[in-house]
Amino acid sequence: MATLPKVNVVWLKRDLRLNDHAPLAELTKSENPSILIYIFDPQLLNAPDSDFRHWRFVWQSLQDIKQQLIKVNGDIHIFHDDSKTVFNQLLAQFDIQNVFSYQETGNAISFERDKLIKQLLQFNQISWKEFQCNGVIRGLSNRNNWDKEWQTFMTAPIDNVDLKNIVFDKTPVNLDYQKSLPEEIFANKSEFQPGGETYAWRYLSTFLNQRNQTYSAHISKPLLSRKSCSRLSPYLAYGNLSMRQVYQMTIMQLGRTGYKRGLINFISRLHWHCHFIQKFESECRIEFENFNRAYDQIVKPRNASFINAFENGTTGIPIIDANIRCLIKTGYTNFRMRAMLVSFFCFNLWQDWRELHFLARQFLDYEPGIHYPQLQMQAGTTGVNTLRIYNPIKNALEHDPEGLFVKQWIPELADVPLPMLHTPWQLSETEQTLFNCKLGIDYPLPIVDIEESQKFATQLMWGFKKNKDAKEEGERILKTHVKSRPMKKKSPKKK
Ligand SMILES: Cc1cc2nc3c(=O)[nH]c(=O)nc-3n(C[C@H](O)[C@H](O)[C@H](O)COP(=O)(O)OP(=O)(O)OC[C@H]3O[C@@H](n4cnc5c(N)ncnc54)[C@H](O)[C@@H]3O)c2cc1C
Repeated sequence: MATLPKVNVVWLKRDLRLNDHAPLAELTKSENPSILIYIFDPQLLNAPDSDFRHWRFVWQSLQDIKQQLIKVNGDIHIFHDDSKTVFNQLLAQFDIQNVFSYQETGNAISFERDKLIKQLLQFNQISWKEFQCNGVIRGLSNRNNWDKEWQTFMTAPIDNVDLKNIVFDKTPVNLDYQKSLPEEIFANKSEFQPGGETYAWRYLSTFLNQRNQTYSAHISKPLLSRKSCSRLSPYLAYGNLSMRQVYQMTIMQLGRTGYKRGLINFISRLHWHCHFIQKFESECRIEFENFNRAYDQIVKPRNASFINAFENGTTGIPIIDANIRCLIKTGYTNFRMRAMLVSFFCFNLWQDWRELHFLARQFLDYEPGIHYPQLQMQAGTTGVNTLRIYNPIKNALEHDPEGLFVKQWIPELADVPLPMLHTPWQLSETEQTLFNCKLGIDYPLPIVDIEESQKFATQLMWGFKKNKDAKEEGERILKTHVKSRPMKKKSPKKK
């Protein structure tokens, strides 16, 4: 029997870049030839939180990697099959010495996949070394030293990878089992941010050199934030950039610029990124269950027509509909608008956050580790965060004061003047004719009374915060996910 070629394998997942990459750096230290792989696993592609936009971004990132690898006579093998089948095929073709990858804080499907691959590799006595991803620590029981560890990780030297020092194995990989990927993944959609390391660095550079000047002022504005925010989220979610690269470049720029406010605010969000993923890493059941189990007592009957109107941007509340339509088309809206959408869905429409896979599918930057803790925080099911019930009309007037965003996404309201634009249900019959917008025909009447529904949710949710079970669960959550503060020393009583 012919001996199989010895190789090391780097399995790329949400780390689609070629620098500051610990698994790749490992290859440069080895004598063995190496292969790089990426697996489009149908189980993940077909999951309820998945959309073609995500996989298109991944595909574009892989093309960028391929282009860079050509220069060093290397390549990456791309598969479309379930991960176990792929590894079994590789095992039949290669004598795998080591598998290197980053730890992934993904959804339940990727977690189960990883457990299966771990078993398979263990059975074949192959070591799988998984490196810490960004500032997220596996197996952490409390947060007492986490901030310090985050800082240490971010300030450590970049894991430089000299691709010339990697010996790429040239054996043609058996692709017989490769099934074709859906066509939508290759489509050119210019409304979305393009994937890949090259674009990631461009976004970082324009943000640090210029766009950050208006970051803090525009962060919540649905139109202006599109330019003033960094827009790095998909690049971080798919690892086109490491958090350490972004952090260190920002610190460098902070030392050079006179205008620091935006960059300081930005750095705190980089920290949040890992803080939220750490929560999910430590308690991943929150993909399916209320963070605070006491909130299971609150019943929200499913209303299919509400959900349908929300997902189609036809709720009759312009700022809500504009955001949904914009998300469907471009995959992006800013933090405040996301929080407002969740608040509207969970409080005004009184629907369960578990019905919001729709949002995961729309966000180009969908990152399970941020998404689920944020959803639950905004839905008020942690019981420990300040309850925020956003008033969509107030937010529209404050953050889209000229109505430009609403007009861009709701052409039916193009002729409606301010301030009625944000509350078109107040138009009289004559005004509806004058402004070419017949309510209920051209644009829907609101599916819910904002004030009434807000009052109902406020009373119920604030009342529930005092519930004994909710408080007990809250203490447990704080112990696990928040740094414990040292007890204040009592000053000795004066005698
Ligand atoms: C319900 C809900 C779901 C969300 N889902 C995601 C998600 O799936 N993926 C995702 O990356 N962000 C998510 N966010 C957080 C936030 O809205 C986005 O990170 C941000 O809008 C991305 O735009 P930006 O890159 O221009 O952000 P910037 O303001 O430029 O911030 C820089 C980076 O910091 C991180 N960041 C910023 N704000 C937050 C935040 N509030 N929490 C955690 N990290 C943050 C992101 O990585 C972001 O790219 C969610 C927020 C809410 C309310």
